[in-house]
Amino acid sequence: MKLLAIDAGHGGEDTGATANGYLEKEVNIVIARRVFDILREKYKNQVELVRDKDYTLDYKARTNKIKNRYKYCLSIHLNAYNGKGTGVLTIPSIFSPNGQKLAKIIADNLSKGLDFKINKYYQEGRKNKSGNDYYYMHRLTGKTKTVIVEVCFLDNLSDMKKLNIEKAARAIVKGFEEFMETI
Ligand SMILES: [Zn+2]
Repeated sequence: MKLLAIDAGHGGEDTGATANGYLEKEVNIVIARRVFDILREKYKNQVELVRDKDYTLDYKARTNKIKNRYKYCLSIHLNAYNGKGTGVLTIPSIFSPNGQKLAKIIADNLSKGLDFKINKYYQEGRKNKSGNDYYYMHRLTGKTKTVIVEVCFLDNLSDMKKLNIEKAARAIVKGFEEFMETI
């Protein structure tokens, strides 16, 4: 297993959230690329970018690229909630104490680094009706510990004003490095 996959959420025909001229898929990939570039210097080929260009990657193809190939996966997203949400939200798997630790450290760093409120930790993950993980990025990625990182709300202009790509990438990197020191 390699150390880390960085997944830029959505892509191609799947734009993700859209608001005020922003397309989530485009912001995700810019942040993901920067996180990748910084971490690559330290961890070399132990770090890979799951989606490096703007193309459609359905849930099966995406999770197949990740499942059991990496110890960790950071899936980079921006949130949307009818313009009413704000702040950072991270989601680990319900089955992964380490992922839960990583989710908290990354949320804390994004909150500190960009002055975002913590919207929610989902500190113990999020369950579906059958008691499994709610998100396929957790359900279908096997032993890989995935954390979904919703950096801020794309449909909230004040969040987007605070969203500095370099600072966001650095905060995610710092969170990951702090986490690595704890395990
Ligand atoms: Zn998304």
